[in-house]
Amino acid sequence: MSLIVQKFGGTSVADVEKIRAAARKAIRAQRQGHRVVMVVSAMGKNTDRLLELANEVGPNPPAREMDMLLSTGEQVSVALVAMAINALGSEAVSLTGGQIGMQTDSSFSKARIRSISTERIERLLDEGKIVVAAGFQGIDNDLNITTLGRGGSDTTAVALAAVLKADACEIYTDVDGVYTTDPRLLPEARRVDVISYDEMLELASLGASVMHNRSIEFAKKFGVPIHVRSSFSDTEGTMIVTEQESATSPVSGAAMTPDEARLTILGVPDVPGMSLKIFSAIAEKKIAVDMVVQNIGDGGKADVSFTVRRDDLQTTLLTLAPVIDVIGADGVTHDDNVSKVSVVGANMADQAGVASEMFRALAGAGVNIQMITTSEIKISALVPRDQASQALRAVHEGFKLHEKPADAKSWSQIKADREAGVEVETLISRLRDDALEALTLTGISVLDHQARVTLMGVPDRPGIAADMFERIGAAGISVDMIVQGYDGVDGSTSVSFTVPQDALEASLKVAKEIAASHGMRGVQGVAEIAKVTVSGIGLRSHTHVATLLFESLASADINVDMISTSELQVNAVIDSKSADTAKRGLEKVFAGSLG
Ligand code: ADP
Ligand code: ASP
Ligand code: MG
Repeated sequence: MSLIVQKFGGTSVADVEKIRAAARKAIRAQRQGHRVVMVVSAMGKNTDRLLELANEVGPNPPAREMDMLLSTGEQVSVALVAMAINALGSEAVSLTGGQIGMQTDSSFSKARIRSISTERIERLLDEGKIVVAAGFQGIDNDLNITTLGRGGSDTTAVALAAVLKADACEIYTDVDGVYTTDPRLLPEARRVDVISYDEMLELASLGASVMHNRSIEFAKKFGVPIHVRSSFSDTEGTMIVTEQESATSPVSGAAMTPDEARLTILGVPDVPGMSLKIFSAIAEKKIAVDMVVQNIGDGGKADVSFTVRRDDLQTTLLTLAPVIDVIGADGVTHDDNVSKVSVVGANMADQAGVASEMFRALAGAGVNIQMITTSEIKISALVPRDQASQALRAVHEGFKLHEKPADAKSWSQIKADREAGVEVETLISRLRDDALEALTLTGISVLDHQARVTLMGVPDRPGIAADMFERIGAAGISVDMIVQGYDGVDGSTSVSFTVPQDALEASLKVAKEIAASHGMRGVQGVAEIAKVTVSGIGLRSHTHVATLLFESLASADINVDMISTSELQVNAVIDSKSADTAKRGLEKVFAGSLG
């Protein structure tokens, strides 16, 4: 008999009528012959309301008590859903996170799942019951209630689908699928039939709140197909699977995180081990850092900039205060009036000019780019918060995301391809009973014979990045990594990019022309560098990956020149001479996580 997991988000159980509708969906599936496990979120905006209550009682509530409080939201809804099912004539049993044996670590508010015991669920299913499980919550070793992080019910659902080996995992929500960007922000967004795990993971991590990013880590690791669909209509929805919708479109979605904060540590001594001290302290607090950019300044000092979620700014500043003294940096500046706009696409890496197209779109909308980072699957730009919506619209329009790509495949075509024997590369990890959310790496590689070009004193106004990369593109030079960051010297920015070693001379020529025409401070070229890449799943959200990387490089006395991260890769640019040592060191450090 097939097993189906159905997850209902907050709006889908917001009132009694909606609870009945959810109950009817589960009963219908059961009557069609499926075993049914439901995962349910707190009703409507109840989690927000509980958070407000806590903050009214006092500032900085203890994390343990916060999770105790927030978990009650889901407990209310599972009981009501089970009652509704019983009232409609089927049998249901509600279970809390603890009762489904959802064991997590003890990081309250960001707990990771360790194991789930399926026995009780399976016994109830055997008895013909519908199991109604509380999303978002678990228990730690001491039976403390933990929560998985906002939006975490998706992760509960996909994790259950994985351990129960479900045939389907349906996510019922208030939109009828995954769109090219949040349709509430941009009505012209297009619903996609299919999106790949890699793209959805990156989009979710960069702000597409329709799915909790960690649920997609699970789905990819254990090969769970996810069907996102509306609670309120019968539209087909979107399948999140291994395959992409289009094999050619460079960009398949755009996302925005409105509430970001930038921090810059000024005057960091440019010697190995500094990044380690900075980022390990932050990672210990489980704060995810993004857009890390280091500007090599004059006199052996660097400015290190990065972004965190605005909510994490205060904790980050407190955490950094002692670190600044230890490493002998000059100080920290921050700006919490910024948003991050990103584009994501699995085909991006093979196509030149995607970055400059994004910068041109932003320039066309008069948006000033404060920071840039790129990696193989995404480009992010940090922009002033009051320009964020314009920026999102501009890139959506620029990449024509409202139009269906000519080679777009529907889910039924992809299914037909699969049946016809078209091979898809899948990664199905062994279910580890005790470490379901453990880090999974797929490889460590080195790209050698690269060079770096840096333009210093880039004026802080719209259009410069577009002009720069269009001219470099026009010279036939293909650029790999791009970073733009804050420059402590005069508040301008610095832009660095990598090119193949044999393109260094031509790149420097163009860079000098660009520098002259925009009145920049100078150009620097560094030959013989290498890019070391750690690939895997959920690398940004597993905050210790960057720490381990920095640790390993620092212990071998290797300086990190540039860094870029995505959920799929962490890249560090280092001196070519150290590449082999770096690779061996990383292989050792990550041995336990390499599949
Ligand atoms: P639920 O309570 O069902 O989990 P969420 O509010 O967490 O629902 O997620 C659904 C919301 O995600 C939508 O209402 C939409 O505004 C937002 N969203 C953000 N990005 C996207 C996207 N790319 N596609 C669809 N919805 C998106
Ligand atoms: N109720 C939780 C939240 O609002 C979990 C969820 O809905 O996924 O974040
Ligand atoms: Mg959600």
